[in-house]
Parts: sequence; C-alpha cells; structure tokens
Amino acid sequence: MTIELPDPKKVGMVSLGCPKALVDSERILTRLRADGYAMSPDYAGADVVLVNTCGFLDSAKEESLAAIGEAIAENGRVIVTGCMGDEAETIRARFPQVLAVTGAHQYEAVVEAVHEAAPPSQGPFIDLIPQPDVKLTPRHYSYLKISEGCNHSCAFCIIPQLRGKLASRRIDAVRREAEKLVAAGTKELLVISQDTSAYGVDIRHESRMWKDREVRAHMTDLARELGQLRTADGQAPWVRLHYVYPYPHVDAVIPLMAEGLLTPYLDIPFQHASPNVLRAMKRPANEAKVLERLKSWREICPDIAVRSSFVVGFPGETEADFQYLLDWLDEAQLDRVGAFRFEPVAGAAANDLPGAVPESVKEERYARIMEKTAAISAAKLQAKIGRTMPVIIDLVGEADEDGDIGATGRSQADAPEIDGAVHLRDVPANLQPGDIVSVKIEDADEHDLFGVIA
Ligand code: SF4
Repeated sequence: MTIELPDPKKVGMVSLGCPKALVDSERILTRLRADGYAMSPDYAGADVVLVNTCGFLDSAKEESLAAIGEAIAENGRVIVTGCMGDEAETIRARFPQVLAVTGAHQYEAVVEAVHEAAPPSQGPFIDLIPQPDVKLTPRHYSYLKISEGCNHSCAFCIIPQLRGKLASRRIDAVRREAEKLVAAGTKELLVISQDTSAYGVDIRHESRMWKDREVRAHMTDLARELGQLRTADGQAPWVRLHYVYPYPHVDAVIPLMAEGLLTPYLDIPFQHASPNVLRAMKRPANEAKVLERLKSWREICPDIAVRSSFVVGFPGETEADFQYLLDWLDEAQLDRVGAFRFEPVAGAAANDLPGAVPESVKEERYARIMEKTAAISAAKLQAKIGRTMPVIIDLVGEADEDGDIGATGRSQADAPEIDGAVHLRDVPANLQPGDIVSVKIEDADEHDLFGVIA
C-alpha cells in the first residue's frame, strides 16, 4: 500500500545582511523544515515569502525595503523579519500589505507567522522524518554563532539596541552543533558573534559537561575544543575566529594556532588607530599596546593572518588622526583590510558628535587608505610566491578546449566572501569543493594568489 503524502507548503526566503543574519535565516528554515515546510527557489512557487532584512546602515535599510517591495510585487504574501523588523512602522507605512513583521532572533514569532500565513500540511510521515539542517552556505563551510548581542556601546553602532546585551550560548550546545556540522561535511567552521572574545562573560563562563570533561564557556576553552574536531577522513577542520577584540586573553589562542589546532587567522575590527578617534568611538579594548601584541603574536605564530576593518571620516577625525592611522597601518602590516567611509546610522550616538567630516574629505581619505592597504597586501602576497600552502577548494570549473580545468579556493589567510582567493590551474577532474590540497604559489596580484597543486 502506498501512502500519499500531502504536498508540503513552500516558503521562499530572501536573506540580506551579514553572516550573522544568514545564520538566523538558516535557523528559521531549519525550524520550518522540521515543521513540514519545503523551500521554494523562486517567488512564484512560494506560499509565503520571508524577507530577512538588514537595518544596520541607511543604505542597507533601503536595500531591505527594495527587497520587500520586490517580494510583494512578485508574490504578494510576505513576512518581514531581521534587524529592520524593529522598525515595523516604517515597513508598514510603505507596505501595508505585509502579513507580519518580526524582529531579529524572534525565531518563534517568525515561525508562528508562517504557520498563520500558510498552515503546514499535516501528515505523520512529514512530522516524523528527521530533516537535515538547512544550510545557505556551501556544504564545506559553516558559520557557528556563539552568542547574540553586545555589551559595548560603540558610538557608530546600533547593534546593542537592535540585538540587546550579550547572550552567550551554552558551551555544550555550541560544541554539539560544531560536531554535527563537521560530521555533515563541514571542512571549515567560521566562529561568529558580535564580540567573540567576550564569549561567556554574561553567563560567568559557566562550565558544562561535554562527553567526559567539563568545559567553560570561554573563548580559549572553545578554541581548544574546536581544535579537537576531526572530519570523517581524520582531518582537522579549519576553525576561524571572527570579530575578536584584542583583550589580553586573546594571547592564549595564538599558541593553538602555532600548534595547528586553530586556523592562524584573526579577524579583529580595529576601526581606527588614533587614540582620539578610538576614544570618540568608545571602542572596547582601546589600548596602545596593540602593535606590540601583533609583533609577539607573529613571533609565536609567524603565519598568522590578521584581517581588520577601518572607518574613515568619523566625526572629529582630523588630518593628523588620519595620518596616524596610515602610519599605524605601515607598522601593523595587516594581511587583509576592509575600509568604510563613516555613514551616520539612525539612532547612533555618533550622529550628535561635533566635527562632521565633509563627504569630499571622506572620499579622499578612503582612496588613500585603500591605496595604502592594497600596497601592503600586494607586498605580502608577493612574498608568498614559491611557497607551498594548504588551500580549501570552493569552486571547480569546466574543462576548457584543451581539457584544462581551473579551480578557485582559499588559503588559511582568506575567509570566504570577505578575503582573497587562490586561483588554481590544471586541477584533476575529480577535485571537489571542500577538498584541502597542497598548492605551490606561482604568482600574486594585489588581493589574490595563483598556483598549481603541488
Ligand atoms: S562591539 Fe561595538 S561595533 Fe561591535 S556590536 Fe558591539 S557596539 Fe557594535
């Protein structure tokens, strides 16, 4: 006897914003899948469309509103969630036909809204079949979110208003999720939060039993735990730490990188170097010894890659402050740098600060910092020519008319989506995304490396 399963209701998803928002989208979809929903790859096939918005900058809000408008025009049944969900009035004023608006991390509320808009098809088989987690990133890398919110109050940021105070996940839950991801084929874990070094502060670094041992909710314990993971073929997955502030205890994870337990990579959003600007920004871990610490980290782990982002044109930034930043960058020799022109965010304290920098000056400083950091990056990449290094494969191309196949991957110094790439020539036909291969570097430009499998 065959049992007819009812057609599952279909949900479309438009996910905007940062990797943290992407993790939220994955969680929502995972929950909906468990409730019997299927995913629709297009507007037309969806019973309801979820738009996960970003409300960080005014430009991101505009993009979010445009996405909501498009989903309404194409489908008509739209639920809005994410950071911009906190501005329900703005959204409803523009799009009164939106079915529901829920804020960031209100998973229950979004799921409930979907249930209301498109009640799930009932069926014992749908409800009992365990579904794998939904992933929006490629199978070989995964974001691992360890906390929500933030206890700081940087003048340009409204994340604490949007997402609340730091709320760390239990260490055993994080460890379990990491193990599951690796068992499912993840070769690279990207640890994310608003402030990774503060992990566990809010729960007093409480210990939990994990297998036969007690582990603390603390960044160094977490790093050590993640360093013990192994893939099905016995490899250590790459583990990258993002959004780390240079608190003193960060020093403790550098030896783990030297031992190969953690990927030698730190993403530290310094934002500026001038003490005046950092003070005005109210940045955490704003201390003068960062350059010395970078030096000592490189002594312990010479291959460590440090990525950072900087804001130029913050209110009150003088030419002397900006020149201080450029000189600091000369000393710091960071591997990867992202730069942004200061943009006032509605509700941020920085908007009331005196000394607004004219747009033309912001542009000019932006061009200067980009030129400086591109030159540093080019020199650092040139120095890698001739070396052999592990590369994780992201994409394998089609054979060209001579039968040669190219591939794109990343070295340990490159996080997905934000850093550079390694372009490979003449790869074997059986190469797969997620494979980690040893590559001889033959050439470099300002941001990327070029090589061949050794
Ligand atoms: S550390 Fe500062 S910039 Fe980062 S989320 Fe917290 S308040 Fe915002």
